Amino acid sequence: MDNRIYDMIVVGGGPGGYTAALYAARAGLDVAVLEKLSAGGQMAMSQQIDNYPGFEEGIDGFTLAEKMQAQAERFGAVTEYAEVSKIDLTSNPKVIESSEGTFYGKTVVISTGATNRELGVENEQELVGRGVAYCAACDGMFFKDMDVVIVGGGNSAVADALVLSRIAKKVTMVHRRDTLRATLVYHNQLMNTENIEIRWNSAVSELLYDDELTGVVLKNVNTGEESLVACQGLFISVGRIPATELVRGQLELDSSGYIVADETTRTNIPGVFAVGDVRTKRLRQVVTAVADGAMAVHMAEEYLASEN
Ligand code: NAP
Repeated sequence: MDNRIYDMIVVGGGPGGYTAALYAARAGLDVAVLEKLSAGGQMAMSQQIDNYPGFEEGIDGFTLAEKMQAQAERFGAVTEYAEVSKIDLTSNPKVIESSEGTFYGKTVVISTGATNRELGVENEQELVGRGVAYCAACDGMFFKDMDVVIVGGGNSAVADALVLSRIAKKVTMVHRRDTLRATLVYHNQLMNTENIEIRWNSAVSELLYDDELTGVVLKNVNTGEESLVACQGLFISVGRIPATELVRGQLELDSSGYIVADETTRTNIPGVFAVGDVRTKRLRQVVTAVADGAMAVHMAEEYLASEN
C-alpha cells in the first residue's frame, strides 16, 4: 500500500463498476476497482443471461463478469480485493478505508449494487434457479406457457406480473394486504388481464418441490386458512435493498435508500458518481448498469478537466 492517488476509485466490481474501469483505463486514467469477493456482484449469481447483447446463446453471469474484469484489466485497470469499511467523499482527494488499507481517489464511482429482499420462506435460496426467481425481465422467459406465482404488491410486482402474463400460462399474484401499494395507473391493467389472478391477504408459507419447484402453499393472513397453488415458477418482488450504508449522510438518498443520480450518474458531491443498481433509475439490468459505467467516466473526465 502506498499513498498513490488514483484518478478514479471504483467501489464494487459489478458490470457497472467494471465498465467504468474499462472506459477510465482506455481514457488513460489511473483506476482501481475495490471488490470484496469476486467480480460480477448480483450478475455473477445468474446462471443464464439471455438479454445482454452479443451472446447469442446467452452466457452465465460469472463468466460474463470474468470477461468484463479481464477486459478492463487489459487496459491497465487494477483490481484490489478489499472490503471497504469507511468512505470519506468530502475530502480532497476522497479517502476510502478498506481491509487492505487506505485508497485515495480524485473521483469515486459507487457501484455497490442492491440485493433482493428475500421472503424468508424455508428453502427459498436453495431453489433459486430451480423455480425461484427475483426478476421477471431476467428469468420470465424460462417459464413460457407455465404457471407462475408472483409475490408483492408494489410497482415492481405489478409490472412483473404484467410481463409474466404475456409469457406464462397463468399468473397468481400473492399480496399480504387487501390493497396494492402500486400506483393506481397499474390497477386497471392488472384487473383486466385475464390470466392474472390475485390472492389478497395471503403469504407464501411453504415451497413444494422435488428437483424443481412444483408449487407453493399459501396462508391467508387473517384466517390462517391454507391452500395449495401448483406452479413451476415463484417470482419474489418484495423490494430491493441498495448497498448504501457506507455513503449514508454524505450522498443524497431517496426514501428507499438509493443514491439520487440521474442518467449523468452525478451525485450531490462533485466527482462522485453512482452507477448501476445503486442509483435511482427505472430499469435495473446489466445493460443499463454498463451504460451508467460509460457515462460516469465521461462525466468524470469533465470533472477532472475542470479541476485542473
Ligand atoms: P415497494 O414499493 O417497496 O413494494 C414492495 C412490496 O412488497 C409491497 O407491496 C410490500 O407489501 C411487499 N412486501 C415487502 N416485504 C414483504 C414480505 N416480507 N412478504 C410479502 N410482501 C412483502 O418495492 P418495489 O415494488 O420493488 O418498488 C421499489 C421502488 O421502485 C418504489 O418506489 C416503486 O414505486 C418504484 N418503481 C416504480 C415503477 C414504475 O413503473 N413507476 C416500477 C417499479 C418500481 P406492503 O404493500 O404490504 O408493504
